[in-house]
Amino acid sequence: MKTKEVVVIGAGVVGLTTAITIQEQGGYNVTIVAETWPSDPKTVKYTSFWAGASHGVYRGPDENLRKVRQDTFKVMWELSAPGGPAEACFHRTTEHAFYYDGLGQYADDMPNLKRIPESELRLGAKAGYSFSSYVIDPPVYLNYLLSRFIARGGHIVRGTVQHISQVIEGGTGIWVNGKPSAAPDALVVCNGLGAKTLGGVEDAEVYPNRGQNVIVHAPWVRDAMSLSSPEPTIDTYVFPRRNGDVVLGTVRVPHDWYPVARPETTTQILERCLALCPELAPPEIRAQRAPTIDDLRPLIVEETCGLRPMHVGGIRMEVNWIDGRERESKIPMLLNYGYGPSGYEPSWGSAKAALEMLEGALANVVA
Ligand SMILES: Cc1cc2nc3c(=O)[nH]c(=O)nc-3n(C[C@H](O)[C@H](O)[C@H](O)COP(=O)(O)OP(=O)(O)OC[C@H]3O[C@@H](n4cnc5c(N)ncnc54)[C@H](O)[C@@H]3O)c2cc1C
Repeated sequence: MKTKEVVVIGAGVVGLTTAITIQEQGGYNVTIVAETWPSDPKTVKYTSFWAGASHGVYRGPDENLRKVRQDTFKVMWELSAPGGPAEACFHRTTEHAFYYDGLGQYADDMPNLKRIPESELRLGAKAGYSFSSYVIDPPVYLNYLLSRFIARGGHIVRGTVQHISQVIEGGTGIWVNGKPSAAPDALVVCNGLGAKTLGGVEDAEVYPNRGQNVIVHAPWVRDAMSLSSPEPTIDTYVFPRRNGDVVLGTVRVPHDWYPVARPETTTQILERCLALCPELAPPEIRAQRAPTIDDLRPLIVEETCGLRPMHVGGIRMEVNWIDGRERESKIPMLLNYGYGPSGYEPSWGSAKAALEMLEGALANVVA
C-alpha cells in the first residue's frame, strides 16, 4: 500500500504526541509544520511550555475521558520508570490532593490511592487522597517528544500557516524553499489556541483561559500537593520537578489574554501555596520561626503565564472533509484541539483515538 502523506499543524504536546502515534503506526510519512518548537525561546503563544504538569486524580463523570487519561498514565508511568526511555523528563512522587467538596464518585484508580485521614486534612479541606504519580518537566519532555519523532524519520518544518489551503496546494515545501512539495493525503490540526484564527478553521468557540504560576527552587520539597477551591478561578498546587524546581500555582481566568505575570497574582499564589505547604520554606528558617512569603521570594526562578486553549464543550476531535489538490478530490482534515487545562494528562490516549479516527476516514477515500 502507498505510504500516505500526513501533515500535522502544531508542535505542542498535542501535535507532537499525535504525530508520533501516527508515525509509529507505520504506513505514513508525517511532517509537522509549526510556528513554535520546544527548543525555541519561551513564548505565551506556545502553551505547552507553561503546564504544571502533574497527572492528578480524575473525579468527573466522563467515562471516555477517564479511560483516555488512564491509558496515558500507563504510557507515561513506563516512560518515567527508573532506567525508562524518558526518565529524566519526570519526577515520580506521591501527591497529596485535598478537596473542599467530597471525593467524587468516579475517582481514577491511581497507584497506591488512599484516603487521607481526617486528622491530616489541610486548610479546612473536606476530603483528600494520596497516590503515586509523576510531575512532568514540560520543556524537557517536549524536547524528548520532538527528538523521538525526528529519530524515527519524521519531518519538521518551521512555518506559520495562514490558511489550510496553503498546505493543500503547496505541501510543506513552500515553507522550506518556496516550492510545492507532495500533496497531503490528510491534514491534522493540533494548533491549540491558533484554531481560533487559522483560515479554513476559524473556530469561534476557542478561547483562552489564563494561568499564572511561580517556579521556585526548593529541592527539599519532594512530594506534590494540591487543593481544589470552591472558587473556580483559583487552584492551589505545589508540583516538584526532578531538578529541584517546584511549580506553584495557579489561577484560571477565562477570556483573559494578558501575556505576562501580574505581580499581585504572584503574591497571592505564594500566600496560598505557603499556607497549604509550609514545607516550601527553607528548613533552617522553619526550625527558627513561622515562615512568611518573603522567605520564598529569594527562591523564585521564574514567574510564568500561559493561555490554556479552551474549546466550548471540551476537546474538539472530529473529521471534516476539505478540497484536496486534485480536481474534485476530497481529503480528511482531523481537528484535534481544545485541551484547555489538561493537554498532558489525556495526551497518549487521545492521540490513539485521533489515529483511529484518521484511519477510519482514510479508509473511505477513493483512490
Ligand atoms: C498554568 C498552566 C498549568 C497547566 N497545567 C497542566 C497540568 O498540570 N496537566 C495538563 O495536562 N495540562 C496542563 N496545562 C494545560 C496544557 O499546557 C495545555 O492543554 C497544552 O499545552 C495544550 O497543548 P497544544 O499542543 O494544544 O497547544 P500549544 O502548546 O499552544 O501548541 C500549539 C502549537 O500550534 C502552533 N500553531 C498555532 N497556530 C499555528 C499556525 N497558524 N501555523 C503554524 N503553527 C501554529 C504553535 O506554534 C504550537 O507549536 C496547563 C496550562 C497552563 C497554562
